[in-house]
Amino acid sequence: MSKRSLIQDFIHGKHNHSRCVQEAVLRAEAVCAARSERFTPLRRIVLELVWGSHKPIKAYDLLAQLAEFHERPAPPTVYRALDFLLEAGLIHKLQSLNAYVGCADPDRDHQGQFLICGNCGIVAELDDKSITDSIDLNARRMGFRIDDETVEIKGLCKDCQ
Ligand SMILES: [Zn+2]
Ligand SMILES: [Zn+2]
Ligand SMILES: [Zn+2]
Repeated sequence: MSKRSLIQDFIHGKHNHSRCVQEAVLRAEAVCAARSERFTPLRRIVLELVWGSHKPIKAYDLLAQLAEFHERPAPPTVYRALDFLLEAGLIHKLQSLNAYVGCADPDRDHQGQFLICGNCGIVAELDDKSITDSIDLNARRMGFRIDDETVEIKGLCKDCQ
């Protein structure tokens, strides 16, 4: 399925989300194995919670959900799990919302570009290398070193317009 039709499906809710979560877990297992890191139960639960929907989740809400069905882990442990998942490229952080969203393509090194619906909150990840290349080129021209490159675009999704 093409990336665009996937985005349309997310937006219209026409997909089997449990498959998204299953696939995210399988990818995470593979990524951890490749990095010789452990995919601990907490890392797994945190990943599954971030993948709870295609809407970003704040750390605060994540902690509240964890308290419901897991022995309440200490917040620093949860933040460490989030940092691990970020570092491994399994999730992205949306700075403007201070919230996390799962990445469907962690195997490939990429900088996220996100379309964020200001009404329903759904986020679609674009991955257009030409955008990244253009930012890189222009930054270099200005002698600017990029540390973090996430493009966040706010608007209204098709259903919310
Ligand atoms: Zn889904
Ligand atoms: Zn991504
Ligand atoms: Zn919307």
